[in-house]
Amino acid sequence: MKNKNLVRAMEILEHTTPLKSKNCGKLCEACCCKGSENDGMGLFPDEDKLLKDEKGFAFLDSDGNFGQPVLVCSGECDRKKRPLACRFFPLFPLAVEHEGEVKIIPVPDPRAAVCPLISQNYNISKQFYRSVRLAGKYLIRDEECREYLLNLSSEIMEISELANKMI
Ligand code: SF4
Ligand code: SF4
Repeated sequence: MKNKNLVRAMEILEHTTPLKSKNCGKLCEACCCKGSENDGMGLFPDEDKLLKDEKGFAFLDSDGNFGQPVLVCSGECDRKKRPLACRFFPLFPLAVEHEGEVKIIPVPDPRAAVCPLISQNYNISKQFYRSVRLAGKYLIRDEECREYLLNLSSEIMEISELANKMI
C-alpha cells in the first residue's frame, strides 16, 4: 500500500516552483541536476518504492541517510517523478520539536550553496515556502517519515551552525 502522506507531500510540490514566473533552471543551466555518480539524493522512507520503476534512477544503500537509500540519477528525469529532495531544493522543511509538538519551518538549505537563488539572494516565492511547509506537515503525519525528517533536520542544523562559524 502506498504511503499516502508521502504521496500527498510529493503532489504539493509537483507544480510549485521557487520563482513565481521563471524556470530557475535557466539561471544556472540546472546545475543542481549535474552531480556526479557519487552524488545522491537522500530518500524518505518508502520513496524508493514509489520511484523504483523510473528510467535513469539507481538506488544505493547508504551509511549516511538514517537507514534509507540514496537515489543517483542520470541528470534528467520526468518532473512528476522527482524525489522530494529535488522538490524542496533549495529550501528544506526543518522539523523542530517544541513542547511535544513538531513544527515545520521552511528554511534555505545550507547545502544549497551551488544554487544561485541562495548565493545571489533571489526572492524565492512565498507560495514555494508555503508549499514546502505544507509538504513537511504531511510528512510528519507518517511515523517513519517524521523520525527521518527530525534526524535530517538535526543534521541540517549542525551544517548550518558550522557554515555560520566559517563565515
Ligand atoms: S540550482 Fe537552484 S536555480 Fe538552479 S535549477 Fe536548481 S533550484 Fe533552480
Ligand atoms: S532526480 Fe531529476 S530533478 Fe533530481 S537531480 Fe536528478 S534530474 Fe535533477
